[in-house]
Amino acid sequence: MNRFKEKTEIIHGIDAIKYLETLKGKRACIVTDTTMVKLKMVDKVTEVFSNNDVEYEVFSEVEPDPSFEIVHKGLKHIMKNKPKLLIAIGGGSAIDAAKAIMYFCIKMKENLIGTEEIPKPFFVAIPTTSGTGSEVTSYSVITDKEKQTKIPIVDDLMVPDVAILDPNFTKTIPPAITADTGLDVLTHCLEAYVAKNASDFTDALVEKAVTLVFQYLIKAYENGSDIEAREKLHNASCMAGIAFNNAGLGINHSMAHSLGSYFKIPHGRSNAILMTYIIAFNSSGDNKAKGKYAQLAKHMGLPSETDEQGVLSLIEAIKIMKQAMNIPATIEAAGVDSESFKRDLEAMSKMALKDICTAGNPKEVSKEDLINIYLQAYEG
Ligand SMILES: [Zn+2]
Repeated sequence: MNRFKEKTEIIHGIDAIKYLETLKGKRACIVTDTTMVKLKMVDKVTEVFSNNDVEYEVFSEVEPDPSFEIVHKGLKHIMKNKPKLLIAIGGGSAIDAAKAIMYFCIKMKENLIGTEEIPKPFFVAIPTTSGTGSEVTSYSVITDKEKQTKIPIVDDLMVPDVAILDPNFTKTIPPAITADTGLDVLTHCLEAYVAKNASDFTDALVEKAVTLVFQYLIKAYENGSDIEAREKLHNASCMAGIAFNNAGLGINHSMAHSLGSYFKIPHGRSNAILMTYIIAFNSSGDNKAKGKYAQLAKHMGLPSETDEQGVLSLIEAIKIMKQAMNIPATIEAAGVDSESFKRDLEAMSKMALKDICTAGNPKEVSKEDLINIYLQAYEG
């Protein structure tokens, strides 16, 4: 038995933000970060609320890679204000923080603050980057600062009720972040396509999302105000999110979570560095993943007369795209010094093996496999 879920209503296209005008008479809490406030992105939401007599509070303390401390602060804010509407606006961090706040609000309120019943707010996510797909997934990644680890929480109660995909919010993303987040989308696609729970439904979403990424990512990187490219990437990110939320991910994400935690490399960039090495590992030997990668290469019109050729073409196409956007080809090129890398290699691999994403990988892995992949990715 297999299952495909998509609970979130998706409002998309230029000016999709106007959807907020329909939310009259609700008390809202807006979860965001200071950058969104500075860039006046939050104003686009508060203006609509002010014009429609919607009361609101803004919690803008979310930081990149949100920590449990921030989630706890946000939780207190929610418990105090009891909003009927929760709006998360920002990149993956703001949306992940809002999800975790809601999760703990419902699951742990007795232990943390009191026993008063807080009804689950109507949850609207407004992504301002095209990367995590967090607006449609049941995943939230929170950082445990003390243990230096990233902890993914997975629960359907965190899935937003509505996602607003308005490309106007993504026009000012700088090129480097466009590249990192866009390659995160590509990683979601590649992992979901070969993951253990991949299905015809998730394959269809991946095939479209990959096509959009290859067609529009470099365009958006080179010209951020290309609104068509921005819109297509925003859609691709969401489609890839739905795909991996159902199919699962794999060791590319497990290893990127560890690498990112140890060496402060952004999530999308960590994924992008490891991507080609993971494809090579997963398709080594005779297995189903090799056939799937080749199928995807064929779908994209890349040379793929045999499965081996398809895999190689896919790897080559990804390398070319990474080069065009100045993504480091190796962990070393990303600025990680050899001594620190060797010191942390064993611990990083252990952490990656235990990561929740490892279970979805098409091929079984050992700690030694992960060490070897990290070593290959270090030097290239
Ligand atoms: Zn990701």
